[in-house]
Amino acid sequence: MGSVRVRFAPSPTGELHIGGARTALFNYLFARASEGTFILRIDDTDLERSRADYTEALLEAMRWLGLDWDEGPYFQSRHLEDYRSEANRLLEEGKAYRCFCTPEELAAGRERARKSGKPYLYPGTCRELPPEKIEARLQEGLSHVLRLRIPAAGETVVDDLIRGEVRFSNRDLDDFIIIKSNGQPTYNFASVVDDETLKITDVIRAEEHLSNTPRQQICLEALGYRKPRYAHVPMILAPDRSKLSKRHGATSVEEFRSGGYLPEALINYMALLGWSPGEEEIIPLSTMIALFSLDRVNKTAAIYDTTKLTWMNGQYMRLIPPERLAAEALPFYEATGLLQAPLKGEAEAYYQRVAAAVHDRVRTLAEMADASTYFYREVDSYDAKGVKKHFQKEGSAALLRRAAGLLQTVEPFTLDSIEAAYRSLSEELGISAGRLIHPTRLAVSGRTMGPGLFEIIVLLGRERTVDRLTRAALWIEQEQR
Ligand code: GLU
Repeated sequence: MGSVRVRFAPSPTGELHIGGARTALFNYLFARASEGTFILRIDDTDLERSRADYTEALLEAMRWLGLDWDEGPYFQSRHLEDYRSEANRLLEEGKAYRCFCTPEELAAGRERARKSGKPYLYPGTCRELPPEKIEARLQEGLSHVLRLRIPAAGETVVDDLIRGEVRFSNRDLDDFIIIKSNGQPTYNFASVVDDETLKITDVIRAEEHLSNTPRQQICLEALGYRKPRYAHVPMILAPDRSKLSKRHGATSVEEFRSGGYLPEALINYMALLGWSPGEEEIIPLSTMIALFSLDRVNKTAAIYDTTKLTWMNGQYMRLIPPERLAAEALPFYEATGLLQAPLKGEAEAYYQRVAAAVHDRVRTLAEMADASTYFYREVDSYDAKGVKKHFQKEGSAALLRRAAGLLQTVEPFTLDSIEAAYRSLSEELGISAGRLIHPTRLAVSGRTMGPGLFEIIVLLGRERTVDRLTRAALWIEQEQR
């Protein structure tokens, strides 16, 4: 293993969304590209919002995406003593101080700032409390937090691998809380301590954390830690450039999974949200790893576009081996009630053939199951536009009966001989092959599009095909009455 160590540090307060998953992916690619270590850390110090089931779902989503981590999961909640002892060290060294301001006092200050239209900064009320006062308040048992002393002047420069130097005036940073009154560390503090403990070399995270970075840098300097490199990856926005939310459709990894997307398509799609390796769009993971570097990650926001993702998924459905695709699609066939796993013998063989027949005309696994219904169920309705075009023409019922008669006797019942029989029948009747093929397709599948007609017929078998043709002829005759 090389010396690079990166971490993905989700908070288990919700599902894994496309933004978080993309951050995980960039960390993963960066680690693999440099033969480094990819660590998974669970930032679960927010007791009210963290949930064990979210952690489980996160791990499951990571596994499904194939983002296998080398170390962890490391849970912050199991290291509370480390944060407290590091905070006490800062306290003893005078780099942190106790703050006894009540929530009401702080809220009033915030309200004043809001009214005057200024950002709220803690005014430093307890920064210089004399030791006797502190002692007295502690004796009284007053609740307090620990705050980090931020230099009052000067600036803090974040040297970002994607954005270059970003300067922050220390005057705009306040003495932020490192340990809350309940003894829990805040995100900024716990993150700094863990990045040191885990020997993280590169912190790759969402742009929204850029404003936390000067605070974290000041904090790690106070603690005497070494400074990791930072890279803040661009935001992902909706097509209208607004913040991505529920109303823009599926955004969580779980939703994509249950919507019938393949993990490799989602990975490929996410990789291109902010990273521009070149012209190619379909890039296998091994190539991504070979090509990945942060200097090809953009500063500007990426635009999330499900149409492109769905297109890409369709591409991957043609690329992955048929057996694997059939295995991935099986739950979707089960969910629509078309079949029940586990499949055995003939049912298994039939399923494999159906899957192979429909897979290259659909874009998701869910569409694949939907496109297969007539292989498992009787046709109970016909596409309306198809009926107009192919059934309502003079003589359609008679044509279907002729086709049924033909298929009753054609030998052997194979693709080639059926096709030959169709051609010679259309020649005999002096009509185009399409005039025979289109109504047949509608009769046997209820649809106007799908796999090659003769492939469908062979799969359905003689009996079902003849039956469906005869029933369609009857249906047309009844409609015409
Ligand atoms: N728990 C933080 C988050 O989910 C981690 C940020 C970081 O990577 O430092 O946004």
